[in-house]
Amino acid sequence: MKPAPVNFHDLTREALRLQVVRWGFSPVHAARLWAYVYLEGLERWADMPELPVRFRAKAEGELAFPRLPVATETHSADGFTRKYLLALADDRRIETVLMRYTGRVTACISSQAGCAMGCVFCATGQMGFARHLAAGEIVAQALHVDRVLRQASCNLVGYKGPGPTSRGERLRNIVLMGMGEPLHNYDAVMTATEILCDSAGLSLGTKQVTLSTVGVVPGILRLADEGRPIHLAVSLHGATQAERAALVPVAKKWPLDELMDACRYYIAKQQRRIFYEWTLIEGKNDSADNAHAVGRLLQGQNAQVNLIPLNPTAGYGGAPTGQDAARRFQQILREYRLPSTIRQRRGIDIAAGCGQLATLPP
Ligand code: SAH
Ligand code: SF4
Repeated sequence: MKPAPVNFHDLTREALRLQVVRWGFSPVHAARLWAYVYLEGLERWADMPELPVRFRAKAEGELAFPRLPVATETHSADGFTRKYLLALADDRRIETVLMRYTGRVTACISSQAGCAMGCVFCATGQMGFARHLAAGEIVAQALHVDRVLRQASCNLVGYKGPGPTSRGERLRNIVLMGMGEPLHNYDAVMTATEILCDSAGLSLGTKQVTLSTVGVVPGILRLADEGRPIHLAVSLHGATQAERAALVPVAKKWPLDELMDACRYYIAKQQRRIFYEWTLIEGKNDSADNAHAVGRLLQGQNAQVNLIPLNPTAGYGGAPTGQDAARRFQQILREYRLPSTIRQRRGIDIAAGCGQLATLPP
């Protein structure tokens, strides 16, 4: 029996080139095919007239461009956020979110179906781990959002800010902050980012892809050594080992002092800032003492803190910190010369906010 076609989106440009040469064709055809798919956004062989007939016949039998079908699409009432429940080939589901901010659109994409890390306040953690996503399944989410932007002109209801909303807009920003822990699925995630950042394709740059990790120390060290063109965000949530471990169980495996060593190593090696994420939970980690502890922990690092008021999930009863308390927290961080932002709450009404993504088992 002939093996099933390879998912084109699993291949880096170099892997495609090697494959094409192995078939006995010129690498020029690989380059043309790559540009059709990732520059022009095409995915039907009939739309690729410059490929020679013999090459196309071979490639058609060997390669496929599977989309992830949309099982459900929901739009937030304010029109800024769209959430897509996408179906994988094995009928598992994942969620991808399109977020419109003033002048830009960001895609929040998933790296796993479920998550094995078990953070208590996170809906994905509450559902457990199903499986890793393949590189092509990660790339396909970004392509889905790119297609929405190109085709539907993405004139989100209520959007009045500046910036492009016209037909033909391309995806420029990706955050790997959807379902799953990206550094637990390191190879597939890095292959996907290589494809998305490829200069002959979508060509996303360093400032345009952000990977958020719960603190998988070996992954951070590897990232530091490999030097990938992406931003790194690290979920902190507690500034002492005990407080962090109560919210983030994997802190027992990779303790806070090891995590800080890895982060300092990353900053020094990459000469790049780390974004620390701090989910603000009322009465739990939002006091002045907590803020001072963060300040002392991160003081002197090239760091920025992103404060995220807790979003509701079914399995966790905590409440979000209010605006005033969040600003006081921010004010204390300023005393330690730590820049910070309070994340805009978006898509909460459709459970598309940070930590709210979850799907039912198939
Ligand atoms: N697994 C990665 C990325 C996905 S979660 C990580 O944990 O970093 C993206 C961010 O949302 C993380 O900082 C995570 O801690 C945060 N988060 C999880 N649940 C949340 C919730 N209920 N409210 C607000 N932020 C949450
Ligand atoms: Fe997994 Fe991140 Fe959720 Fe923790 S916060 S359970 S690491 S997705």
